[in-house]
Amino acid sequence: MPSIFTKIINGDIPCYKIAEDEDNFAFLDINPNAKGHTLCVPKKEVDRLMDLDEASYMKLMTFSRKVGKAIEAAVPCNRVGMSVIGLEVPHVHVHLIPLHSMKNATFQHKEKMSPEEFEKIAGQIRAYLK
Ligand code: 5GP
Repeated sequence: MPSIFTKIINGDIPCYKIAEDEDNFAFLDINPNAKGHTLCVPKKEVDRLMDLDEASYMKLMTFSRKVGKAIEAAVPCNRVGMSVIGLEVPHVHVHLIPLHSMKNATFQHKEKMSPEEFEKIAGQIRAYLK
């Protein structure tokens, strides 16, 4: 069965899309640690980061860097942090999280956002990727 992220990538489940290239896809995390929290996901469905082949790993990191720079430009924050966890969704994903303090890196603190806020921040990040 396809992962929830494969369903998002295929358009079967809606998301607030940020970017896409041949190999990777980025969208806002639905339960964000901070406003602008984004997930970068390889289209190839692999569970664990370290099981990605080296080329796919490098492409994911290059893609994540590009998206991370756009988040840093669009979202006021101290810096953008990067985490790979995968305990909830067994499909590799890089968390890009605007950090204001260590609280945002803990996955304990969550931000409530309206659909309008998600749309707005996604548009602001996308504008820096053009
Ligand atoms: P992890 O697997 O790294 O522990 O966490 C998975 C992340 O995916 C969580 O931050 C969670 O909020 C996010 N997530 C889970 N399901 C969905 C979904 O259907 N849509 C979006 N946009 N994010 C999701």
